[in-house]
Amino acid sequence: MTETTRARKTAKPNLVGMASDEIAAAFAPLGEPGYRARQVYAGVYRKLWRDWGRFTDLGKTLRDELRVRFAIEYPAMARTFDSRDGTRRYLFDVGDGEGGTPSGGSGGRVEAVFIPEESRDTLCISTQVGCARGCRFCATGRLPFRRNLTAGEIAGQVLALQADRGAATKRLNIVVMGMGEPFDNYENVIRALRLMTDGDGMGIPPRRVTISTSGVVPGIERLAAESIQPNLAISLNATTDAVRDRLMPVNRKWGIAALLDACRRFPLAARRRITFEYVLIGDVNDSPEDARRLARLVGDLRQKVNLIPWNAVGADGSGMKPPPPGRAEAFAQILAARRITVNIRKARGEDVAAACGMLAGRESATPM
Ligand code: SAH
Ligand code: SF4
Repeated sequence: MTETTRARKTAKPNLVGMASDEIAAAFAPLGEPGYRARQVYAGVYRKLWRDWGRFTDLGKTLRDELRVRFAIEYPAMARTFDSRDGTRRYLFDVGDGEGGTPSGGSGGRVEAVFIPEESRDTLCISTQVGCARGCRFCATGRLPFRRNLTAGEIAGQVLALQADRGAATKRLNIVVMGMGEPFDNYENVIRALRLMTDGDGMGIPPRRVTISTSGVVPGIERLAAESIQPNLAISLNATTDAVRDRLMPVNRKWGIAALLDACRRFPLAARRRITFEYVLIGDVNDSPEDARRLARLVGDLRQKVNLIPWNAVGADGSGMKPPPPGRAEAFAQILAARRITVNIRKARGEDVAAACGMLAGRESATPM
């Protein structure tokens, strides 16, 4: 037996990723009363304790026993990069195998981003190592797809960022907009959503969580039937199938009409809207005709539109460029004139490759 297989065989189950009923089941052989499992669950997910020494409410004997049997491990933080605007990019080494043996090599890198704003903090988290969808404008899409993250690795990014952020009073938003297509890893994303929103644990209200998809229609349909309803964001990015086919291969499977139909069927709670993200790429999808077509496409939905000026993600021969000055504003005005709530998203953390579409598991601070 090699060193690594031995380590894997004896690896302790990680409580990060287990739901409260799973922790209760894992505790059953210990013969402890049920409330012990609940104390541990609250310690891990609500109090963010990672060290068994912190669980003083359990008594020393039980603590020592648990230390031997269970791990409390967040995804391994390899490095952080601080932008001058306060944004912080986190690089995690989640290893090559499920559940994380550190890779030490090139694989197994994912990123999360902390974005402080005046009235709230936003945490952007990843769901896959790489992404199989291959969108032309996105740095993640150029990486090979390696694997899905586990629920513990997805929710664990939030725990790690919360622990790093320290006691904060600002409102917290979670956006599932980092590396990966969430609906290509549906089960684990929903498990992570349950962990993040559980009132006995992490306690993040579902309305503060947004899941963004490139347009995987079966995922939208499945989400519609879930008991927990986060916000839904759709990366639309084009107004004709010809352009969208070229930018986003996912469109060849589910075209714009099918995608918008799924959005129309999506059961929105009161005061909720679907967010349409639209990356503006110079002379590709940023014309006044595009703006008018976009208004027609989404006009009958309860929605809002986020315009994201394309962030340059390196020379790849695609010939893409950001929209010229004033183009985003002109595009926004056309939408606003048609009573569509529109917002131009300001790039955050560009100087440390932390802005939308720039996440590529990079070891260096800079994008190129
Ligand atoms: N895979 C999911 C979520 C991650 S991408 C999705 O595609 O929705 C998050 C957002 O970043 C998407 O809206 C995507 O269109 C946008 N994006 C990707 N590359 C970008 C770039 N280079 N500049 C600006 N936004 C980009
Ligand atoms: Fe994947 Fe989203 Fe990037 Fe497309 S935009 S390649 S779906 S991460």
